[in-house]
Amino acid sequence: MNPARLLLVIPCYNEEAILHLTYSKLSVYYNSLKQQGLITEDSRICFVNDGSRDKTWNIIEQLCQQDPNIIGVGLSRNFGHQSAIMAGLEKNMDSFDCFITIDADLQDDMNAIAAMVEKHREGAMVVYGVRGDRSSDSWFKRVTAESFYVLMQKMGVPVVFNHADFRLMDRRVLQELGNFKEINMFLRGIVPLVGFRNDKVFYNRLEREAGETKYPLSKMLLFAWNGITSFSTFPMRLVLYFGVFNFLVAMIIVAYILFSYLVGYTVPGWTSTMLPLTFFSGSNMMALGLIGEYIGKIYEEVKGRPRYIIEKTLNE
Ligand code: UDP
Ligand code: MG
Repeated sequence: MNPARLLLVIPCYNEEAILHLTYSKLSVYYNSLKQQGLITEDSRICFVNDGSRDKTWNIIEQLCQQDPNIIGVGLSRNFGHQSAIMAGLEKNMDSFDCFITIDADLQDDMNAIAAMVEKHREGAMVVYGVRGDRSSDSWFKRVTAESFYVLMQKMGVPVVFNHADFRLMDRRVLQELGNFKEINMFLRGIVPLVGFRNDKVFYNRLEREAGETKYPLSKMLLFAWNGITSFSTFPMRLVLYFGVFNFLVAMIIVAYILFSYLVGYTVPGWTSTMLPLTFFSGSNMMALGLIGEYIGKIYEEVKGRPRYIIEKTLNE
């Protein structure tokens, strides 16, 4: 079997604390893959700087100077994890056969790469890295992340359970991915939609060795919310159910008011005025807010702005 021309794409946002370590571990591992004949000699590693405010880009420049196997891509500002991945992938699409994306902190065990490449050899076009054990994550991260996957699946989004953005894609898959024009690329949901033969590789999630997470709770919630609203109209349907329920309750209240009127019990009550008033205006607001959320999404997409802007590249 011929070795694959592999590109490893690594999005980096304020990763100065860990980049050297990541580089040295990866390059050793990469060389062993080359020696085993799993990947070609011209397989490379691409670091994408996602508008970091620290020395990340300087480090990437330095690495590019000392090692011709490294490609540096610098975005003009922070575009977010998913866009940084897309930039690294699309920029180099024509020069490689298959692509693996992995986080800069190597929390996703790089040793799974060999197994991924093997599966690709066996004919899988997409190989998902799936976290077997994630006891190294805090219980909070574990609970929120796992409920996120359950929620997504319940809403009909085809995410792979416990799979993040550690995956292999064949060039063919990447070409098709380019036809998904949305700016908010939620890759975990979109890649399964592209189809083709896929497989999984299990690994244990490791601890971040330096630096801190670039996904604080607020960013994590935003990411989850984007994932849900980009893929599922289920929240809108919930509003419909809620609306129907409200209507039925309103009918009962109307019947009660009419009944009171007919039997002569017509003392004007403050409670019976205020209660429905606040309740219904509240639920109206909620429904409007949710509809607004989707209209906002349409607005974002209709503008057709670029997903990312590459400012500079090194060793291309
Ligand atoms: N990242 C990025 N842009 C951002 C936020 C994060 O490129 O705006 C990168 C980050 O450098 C890392 C990966 O995305 O390589 C995942 O981030 P992190 O490890 O902080 O997330 P966690 O593993 O804690 O969910
Ligand atoms: Mg991480």
